[in-house]
Amino acid sequence: MSTSSKAKLTTSAVRAGINNDEQHGAVVSPIHLSSTYSLKGFNEKRQFDYSRTGNPTRATFAEAIATLEQGSVGIVTSTGMAAVHLICQLLSTEDTLVIPHDCYGGSFRLFTHLAKRGQFKLIVIDQNDQQALDQALAQKPKLVLVESPSNPLLRLVDIEKVAKASHAVGALVAVDNTFLSPLLQQPLKLGADIVFHSTTKYINGHSDVVGGVLVTKAAELGEQLAWWANCIGITGSAFDSFLALRGLKTLPVRIKQHQENALKVAHFLEENPAIQTVYFPGLPSHIGHSIAKKQQTGFGAMLSFELKGGTEAVRKLFDNLKLLTLAQSLGGVESLISHPSTMTHAGMEIADQLEAGITQSLIRISVGIEDIEDILADLAYGLEQSQS
Ligand code: PLP
Repeated sequence: MSTSSKAKLTTSAVRAGINNDEQHGAVVSPIHLSSTYSLKGFNEKRQFDYSRTGNPTRATFAEAIATLEQGSVGIVTSTGMAAVHLICQLLSTEDTLVIPHDCYGGSFRLFTHLAKRGQFKLIVIDQNDQQALDQALAQKPKLVLVESPSNPLLRLVDIEKVAKASHAVGALVAVDNTFLSPLLQQPLKLGADIVFHSTTKYINGHSDVVGGVLVTKAAELGEQLAWWANCIGITGSAFDSFLALRGLKTLPVRIKQHQENALKVAHFLEENPAIQTVYFPGLPSHIGHSIAKKQQTGFGAMLSFELKGGTEAVRKLFDNLKLLTLAQSLGGVESLISHPSTMTHAGMEIADQLEAGITQSLIRISVGIEDIEDILADLAYGLEQSQS
């Protein structure tokens, strides 16, 4: 795995917005809550005029993420789903969108419902199935959306390969990088045109903001999407941008601890008799391990597993955990555990869930940065009880 650019990324994350206040010299970038900005005079605008269109705090955060993703334009949105929806503005009725069958349930719900209403044509495939990918690309799609690693099975897609094949038929490529953050994967460098995040997760990292961000490689595409973001009114608030910017500064140290803990949890689960299968890209047994090593600079801290004993065992496990919190979302400092079928992916029909490999026994963990001994002790007890 390459680590050469890691130090620079860390510095960029920590220094985001630091000492950019020329008026007072505030070291931490100030929060600008004003909804509107005065003109210098008749028809003489300043840089900002109205906060839906542009806001200094939001602009600082957008620039920080654009720098980390090595793109040209960053757009901060009110939620991760708003960023996903924004990308859909690139599509009109005759255009085709290709998505993976195992993307985040909320994204899947949005794409399938917009397609049902005729907003665009949709092809849902396993992007690792070469024949299915070739057939989809033969339809000359306008956009190919990739989620790698995917939610909740941590499947990996070779971004460079898909981007090359998609560009060959004139398609744009957008990558959901939520599970890794720009510190562990930079899809624009791998050939994608757009990268996006739910900043609700690792970037903010403290489970107290819902937000999104999107970065484009080409300035022109970024300007087009920024125009739409203002037009439909989905830009993020100044307060959320301030919090996410604050979270970003500790992302490098958080990610380090998250990953260290996650690897230990994965090894622990692999050995536990209550577990059927562990899905974690850091394990050599994982189907995407070699792709992860090629295109990521770390394995992240999300994992999932199949528990033995069906729904009753799942219930017993959740009932007996004291530290890991049963809740949606991920990427916060606290460890969260969830049941994708009834929680994060409940927006998908059961048949679609099964097609994507989401069973009733599948459990997802967002490994936090608590003391690893406490995380493992909690899991050990819960798993033992689940089989009793
Ligand atoms: N993409 C992924 C991979 C997600 O996990 C989520 C939310 O869980 C989203 C997008 C949507 O983000 P938000 O909940 O901030 O709207």
